[in-house]
Amino acid sequence: MRKAILSSLIAIFVSFTINAQTPQELADAWDSTHITDKEPSDVRHSDLKVYLEKLRAQGVKIAEIGRSNADREIYQMEFGSGPMKVFLWSQMHGDEPTATSALIDIFSYLETHKDMPWVKELSTKLTIRAVPMLNPDGAELYTRRNLQGIDINRDALNLATPEARLLKSLQQQWRPSIAFNLHNQQELTAVGRSGKQASISFLVVYGDEAKTETDGMLRNKRIVSAMVKAIEPFIRGHIARYGDDWTPTAFGDNFSAWGTPVILIETGALVGQKELYLAKINFIAIMTAFSSLATGSEAAGSTQLYDTLPHNGSGTLVNFIFRNARRAPNGKGSNAVVDLALVSARRRASFTTSIRIARVGSVNGLRGLEEFDAAGFYVVQRFGNLAPGKLAEFYFYKMDRDIDWKAKDLTERFEPDAIFSGGMWAKGEGLLPKV
Ligand SMILES: [Zn+2]
Repeated sequence: MRKAILSSLIAIFVSFTINAQTPQELADAWDSTHITDKEPSDVRHSDLKVYLEKLRAQGVKIAEIGRSNADREIYQMEFGSGPMKVFLWSQMHGDEPTATSALIDIFSYLETHKDMPWVKELSTKLTIRAVPMLNPDGAELYTRRNLQGIDINRDALNLATPEARLLKSLQQQWRPSIAFNLHNQQELTAVGRSGKQASISFLVVYGDEAKTETDGMLRNKRIVSAMVKAIEPFIRGHIARYGDDWTPTAFGDNFSAWGTPVILIETGALVGQKELYLAKINFIAIMTAFSSLATGSEAAGSTQLYDTLPHNGSGTLVNFIFRNARRAPNGKGSNAVVDLALVSARRRASFTTSIRIARVGSVNGLRGLEEFDAAGFYVVQRFGNLAPGKLAEFYFYKMDRDIDWKAKDLTERFEPDAIFSGGMWAKGEGLLPKV
């Protein structure tokens, strides 16, 4: 009797342990185990190889499964030996790198924690394969397209690229039960009209234009709902649904059509947070998806959180807004009060960004990720006029200074009070208050 009680207690304890991976525990797991140490956009193919060597040393199964146009190796990682086949691919667009780092950390964690009950359960229920960098040439050049200038994600039917031929063959030969298509979206993508960045957007990708609601689609909606619930505490209000137009030449749509229902995850940005933070959010989301598939808990879940996600919005966010600046009376236009909206180009984290003026005058309807009140300052554009399209390199002068605006060597004779350059304060940070 006592033995029976003890063993049922053990059973309760074990099942408790299996189900006990809370989102916070997953976040802590990433914090204490992640092996990625570069910002994802700085990870080149050679850096990926360094990561993969570490994974190999841990025991992760890694195979070279193909080559790019420039003969760069394309790899696949594998974990588990269960009957349900789960496939993921990342960075088919070379400048969309966040999930690549998340996948590295996921496989590292799974391999080094395979004795934990919940990981053991994953490995007996699922076989997980992931291609961490499908477009290594694009990743090297930091471009969306491959070396032929072709968007691999519009090449699912033409198959003009070696990367697309490889991706299709991976689906056709293995026939996964579910796949995750991992991308990045623009950092200025918003959650509806909320003025908040969409840091993660999801889409359950239909397999036909009529959006037929198959069992696979419903399962994927429940899984996305579980992922939303898991990551919401970390990025509350920053989760949206990606647009679901049928794209006949894209891979997600065709994987779904070929019998592998796809979940699209698009990572955006979160102002004030580094890229690796969103790799961590990917880690939490994808681990949650694995867990809900392995335990079958998704079957009892609801599609509601997915169904009620706000849609992605665009056209409302800019990187910076300066409000109430006054044009300097230096002969280049009147000294009117203007608002300035600025946007920056996508870039690697370690590269200087080019920031351009998007709007001068009224910025009604726009919200800046960062906003400054420039009231009381004259603004001088370093290169020519304050006009849309120009680089945003600004000198700010307090209005109560006595300045000869016609001076040829203006900035040498009259040092600016604040300088905004490359999206940062080169001088006078804090002088213009944040709005
Ligand atoms: Zn993409």
